[in-house]
Amino acid sequence: MDSAVVERRTSTPSHTASKARRRPSRAEAEAAVRTLIEWAGDDPDREGLEGTPNRVVRAYEEFFAGYAQDPVALLTTTFEKPASYDEMIVLRDIRLESHCEHHIVPILGKAHIGYVPTGRVVGSSKLVRLVEVFAKRMQIQEALTSQIADTIQEVLAPRGVGVVIEAAHQCMTTRGIRKPGISMVTSRLLGSFRDDRTTRQEFLSIIGGRRSTLQES
Ligand SMILES: [Zn+2]
Repeated sequence: MDSAVVERRTSTPSHTASKARRRPSRAEAEAAVRTLIEWAGDDPDREGLEGTPNRVVRAYEEFFAGYAQDPVALLTTTFEKPASYDEMIVLRDIRLESHCEHHIVPILGKAHIGYVPTGRVVGSSKLVRLVEVFAKRMQIQEALTSQIADTIQEVLAPRGVGVVIEAAHQCMTTRGIRKPGISMVTSRLLGSFRDDRTTRQEFLSIIGGRRSTLQES
């Protein structure tokens, strides 16, 4: 397999990390950070930077913990919805921390999730965790939004699901065009959220009033 093919494969967002690749050792990862420090123009052996490669690698373990987690398994603990409840369930303002796959710098924002259950519902903490599993991978916001919505659709089979993410990308605010204050909004609407105007409007109006809080990030 030539290296160009490998590169393309790894840039494709997927539910599971590629298992075909050998995972570099911690020492190799730390050596790579050391190289980046030197390349930036500093001395990795000076006092303040001595422990940095180790700290960066440990930070990566947290930032990218999502590769080791199965999003589908997360949603398998469900319970029967109360028979009298046929309405939309919305979780709004879920704190979102991810990293863009182009620059590996933070994407910070909020996710809003709504669905209309048919038979089964999940605890709200599970949906928060689902956002985390996908966010703690290298991402683009469009893919992140779709992965969350598609997984809910696939596992819970609700009447409809909507996911809206509003986020600021530090690759736009601290480098490149350097324009702070821009947030990107992405959405994925499935089932009744896409086909039924009333459902869609109900969802957007429930989350709509909170848009301004995004700027806190
Ligand atoms: Zn970026």
